[in-house]
Amino acid sequence: MARNNRQPRKNNHRSSVKLLQRPENGPGAFADASVDAFLMFDENLNLVSINPAGEKLLGVSLEADAGKNITEIVPDIKRTGRHEKYLSVIETGRPFFADDVIPHPRFGDKHLSIKAFKVWHGVGMIVSDITERKQMEEALRLSEERYRLIVENANEAIVVAQDGMLKFFNSRAIGILGYSKQEMASKLFIELIHPDDQQMVVGRYMARLRGEELPSVYSFRVVDRAGNVRWLEISAVVFNWEGRPATLNFLTDITERRKAEEEKQRMEEQLLLAGRLAAVGELAAGVAHELNNPLAIIQMYSESSKERGDLDDTAKKDLLIIYEQAKRASKITHNLLSFARKHEPEKNMVSVNEIIEKTLEMHSHQLSINNIEVSEELQPGLPMIMADYNQMQQVFMNIIINAEQAMLEAHDRGKLNIKTETTEGMIKISFTDDGPGILESNLKRIFDPFFTTKEVGKETGLGLSICYGIVHAHGGHIYAISKMGEGATFVSEIPITS
Ligand code: ADP
Repeated sequence: MARNNRQPRKNNHRSSVKLLQRPENGPGAFADASVDAFLMFDENLNLVSINPAGEKLLGVSLEADAGKNITEIVPDIKRTGRHEKYLSVIETGRPFFADDVIPHPRFGDKHLSIKAFKVWHGVGMIVSDITERKQMEEALRLSEERYRLIVENANEAIVVAQDGMLKFFNSRAIGILGYSKQEMASKLFIELIHPDDQQMVVGRYMARLRGEELPSVYSFRVVDRAGNVRWLEISAVVFNWEGRPATLNFLTDITERRKAEEEKQRMEEQLLLAGRLAAVGELAAGVAHELNNPLAIIQMYSESSKERGDLDDTAKKDLLIIYEQAKRASKITHNLLSFARKHEPEKNMVSVNEIIEKTLEMHSHQLSINNIEVSEELQPGLPMIMADYNQMQQVFMNIIINAEQAMLEAHDRGKLNIKTETTEGMIKISFTDDGPGILESNLKRIFDPFFTTKEVGKETGLGLSICYGIVHAHGGHIYAISKMGEGATFVSEIPITS
């Protein structure tokens, strides 16, 4: 079978060679029929022959130009350096190719490619018109350039995610995250997301790939190369990337917007609180003032009566209880009055760092027996402020004791960090504890008078409202930042020029 198959092929080959040998089918005919230009030059680069396509393409005629030197046919060929190239083809026998031929005015604005090789002693050239291909390439290049410009100049980060990796990202994405191109390309995108948001983002990504309907815009946090947390708003769609499903994501950096919103919300809450406290304060101060006198009289009479010889021990004991409770009540009225700012601060130039040191010193024994570790980050050379030394001490002591109680309650020991710094004309004092934290719903109420989560009768719930009154009387702010289970930070800011 195989032999039989081979046989006719041999015959075919022989007959095709024969066919080629006939002049009308030989290489000359091939050149004549070609759409490419075929040219022959002798060893001095004088034109020997050119095919009809060459005459048409190059406007060179065999009749008029045969025997002319290439330098006559293409006058500036020496200047372009090509003359030498063709001579070197003759000399070395090495062919020369170029498809970047700068169109000569003589050839119109055509774009040509040239292949030159040694033939006998001279040079044979095949010249093709690649104008159309070049135009298409240029159009493609321009179109790609346009897309590139749009993508690269977008204010949004544009990212393609596939198989958990970033398959494409524009310059803005690099700008936001701060990683190099190589680092970005080698990272799982989950690595860039803030740990608290990873589950949510990956969940949405998977759900989106499964074709589930999801809100297309949401926000999450990333951690940039420097470790800063940035908020991004993402708008994502599923599409096909290199033949497989991927997500196309547009990301806007909304960190500043979020900060401004949070600040605005904080200010609004402060204003609300200020209004509420002012109203409560006024009422409380009125009541406290009215109660002060009767309480003083009860205290005075119970104190002197409990010493009377005509009373039995039970009566004396009862009077002692009346005296102590009246004392406690008058302490509350006193606190209420100080909360309502009835005590104007006696301001002097004071050093906040010094007040903190003194407060800690006063309380150091208690802190150490309760296993509270205190660390300090007090900014050296902090500017002095105009403030009431004792009131400031009262504020700091209150915050420290609250933190101590909260930490002890939660885990019988604790870590408290105290930090002072200057920010925008203020001295900022932060107390951060590793206690239980504060419920979000309570966070808005802790500065309210009488708000307490402690046992009834143990604490009055006036501590923070007094701190609030004092700090505000100094032109400052006081607030708490906390999440349940993550400790609490109490911040007071006092203006440097107050
Ligand atoms: P009191 O200490 O009498 O309860 P405060 O006004 O000082 O009153 O505090 C109000 C409430 O704020 C406390 O009962 C407690 O629930 C909460 N609180 C204050 N400081 C902290 C803290 N560091 N950690 C957790 N909760 C706190």
